[in-house]
Amino acid sequence: MQHGTRANYLAGKCRCEPCTLANRTYARDYFREGKARSTPSWPIYQHLLALLDSGWTLQEIADRSGYTYATVHAIAGGRRRRVRNTTATDLLSLRAREVAA
Ligand SMILES: [Zn+2]
Repeated sequence: MQHGTRANYLAGKCRCEPCTLANRTYARDYFREGKARSTPSWPIYQHLLALLDSGWTLQEIADRSGYTYATVHAIAGGRRRRVRNTTATDLLSLRAREVAA
């Protein structure tokens, strides 16, 4: 096995410096990305309330955004503390007072 790789650290159980470093770097990047993949739901919650205020229904928001009623309902009800970035972007792209088809 090649040294300086996470595979060797895990499968080869090698604890030499390059292998340990490779594993640590992977873990750090993974952690960072994992955190960055979701966002606090508060701004989306506020956005949904604004949409509802302007006449949207939860079902329309769900239909338009492509998410389930349950998901939209959970966020609008403040029961989701974090949402995925993609979900946030999709929901925030809906505009208040846009007439739902
Ligand atoms: Zn090694």
